[in-house]
Amino acid sequence: MTNSILKRARSDIIEIKPYSSARSLYKKQPDMIFLDANECGFEPYIGAENLSHYPDQQPAQLTDTLCRLYDVSSRNMAVTRGADEAIDCLIRVFCVPYQDNIIICPPTFAMYEHSAGIQGIEVKNAPLTGNFALDTNLIKKESDQNTKLIFICSPNNPTGNLMNNEDILTLCNSFKDTALIVVDETYIEYSKNGASVLPNIENTPNLVVLRTLSKSYAAAGVRCGSTIAQKDIIDLILKILPPYPIPQPVVETVSKILTSDNLQRLTDKRADLLNRKQRFITKLKTIDIVETVYPSDANYVLIKVKDSKTFVQSCLQNNLIIRDQSYQFKLENCVRISIGSESEMDKLLAIMRDEELPALPKQRIATVNRITNETAISVRINLDTQSPITIKTGIGFYDHMLEQVAKHGGFSLELECDGDLEIDPHHTIEDCAIALGQALKKALGDKRGIVRYGFTVPMDEALAQATIDLSGRFYLKFDGNFPENMVGDLPTDMVKHVFRSFAENLQAALHISVEGENTHHMVEGCFKALGRSLCQAIRRDDGDNDLPSTKGAL
Ligand SMILES: *Cc1c(COP(=O)(O)O)cnc(C)c1O
Repeated sequence: MTNSILKRARSDIIEIKPYSSARSLYKKQPDMIFLDANECGFEPYIGAENLSHYPDQQPAQLTDTLCRLYDVSSRNMAVTRGADEAIDCLIRVFCVPYQDNIIICPPTFAMYEHSAGIQGIEVKNAPLTGNFALDTNLIKKESDQNTKLIFICSPNNPTGNLMNNEDILTLCNSFKDTALIVVDETYIEYSKNGASVLPNIENTPNLVVLRTLSKSYAAAGVRCGSTIAQKDIIDLILKILPPYPIPQPVVETVSKILTSDNLQRLTDKRADLLNRKQRFITKLKTIDIVETVYPSDANYVLIKVKDSKTFVQSCLQNNLIIRDQSYQFKLENCVRISIGSESEMDKLLAIMRDEELPALPKQRIATVNRITNETAISVRINLDTQSPITIKTGIGFYDHMLEQVAKHGGFSLELECDGDLEIDPHHTIEDCAIALGQALKKALGDKRGIVRYGFTVPMDEALAQATIDLSGRFYLKFDGNFPENMVGDLPTDMVKHVFRSFAENLQAALHISVEGENTHHMVEGCFKALGRSLCQAIRRDDGDNDLPSTKGAL
């Protein structure tokens, strides 16, 4: 059965024959030889894979993963370059220039109006009510026989609130033979109470849902959006997509983002972000210039301040960018703030309180991303602040040990590792130590002003001692025998290994000795002592910019 809403699509688009690209005629199979599209038979650089030939129009590997993510069938899915391209395509398929119109519900996302404008399509406004809810009666009133699309954003950008799904379905019913209801669910993953309207797709011929990896999957740089609707609508969109719209690197990157482990990681990170948002909102409410904090179901908050222009300007002077929404309908003096890291939010709060921001010396920050066949690691280190410290290696006891190093070292350390723990913890432990040493070396930079040497005192029943010289030369001396083979999930024969990899990559001389009876105490003592030594060695002497060496280089 054909979807009756198709009658509302542009008749010329329905008639037009899809451009048959070389790759749409014959899908890639391993033993096929393709001499049909003037591609090259060799890869563009050493180590490149699958780049020399055009990708499929809709790479199956990608659509399959996205369909699993959103729990929809592949016949209901079109993948585009971000949700932005989907908005453009929907207007193109349904609206006849200089004749048809769309309805938007301001204040809302600016792209609907922008795309319509580019294509010569009129935009009718059915503003949200006082508390930013849909005004379904007004939408019906504004519509006419040339209304083809109604855009609804839920949670709405920039107001941050969810729309009522029953209102949305009522609209679908009212317009079932005349207009598409396009529900932009870019931020739905952040909503605690929000349910997607996706389960209604099969029963609702004129419902279209937009999703994207940009905002809730931390992948705005990838440009990967999904349009989900009944098959006939999807087929029309696929018909007008540009040739080979999904670059091969996007396909491969998305497959790394959407592994089940990483999805769990992203869920945890979203939860952290929402907690940060809650703390930020609590603090916002104590600030003088803030008049209203609007409820938010997304990763940003909309606030009304006394004078948005001055506020945005003073942020800018401090190198902090927020978005003034005053130009939007009913949003005078409102600004939208994305939730960033704790220290970024603290900086913003300090600006709002008009506090004197200390002129900090340039912070020693470094990131290292180290990827091998065995492990993928990212490390971020800031030697001039003490938080955050978050360590996720997959080995609980090792996390705890690296935490000791950063905590007692007095620096911020964020380390994540995805390693081949199914084989054994060896690679993960060693590679994390390598990456940590590299990051520390990078953060120390030219080492000007540092103290260079570190010392420590013994602690606990176990006597652990670590001394370090950030000399630029590697040396390790390790004295210690652990009574047990394992401590927690960490093999103790790896402990010496960790210090070796770390010192070698930091290019430091490290002497560690430990004696005692309890393996847990002995191991923990070593890591704590290392932290304490580092704490002293990496400090910068006040006002001192000298190199602590007569050689002139370290
Ligand atoms: C950011 C945003 C988009 C754009 O998504 P892309 O997938 O990056 O193109 C779409 N809709 C809303 C409401 C947005 O805020």
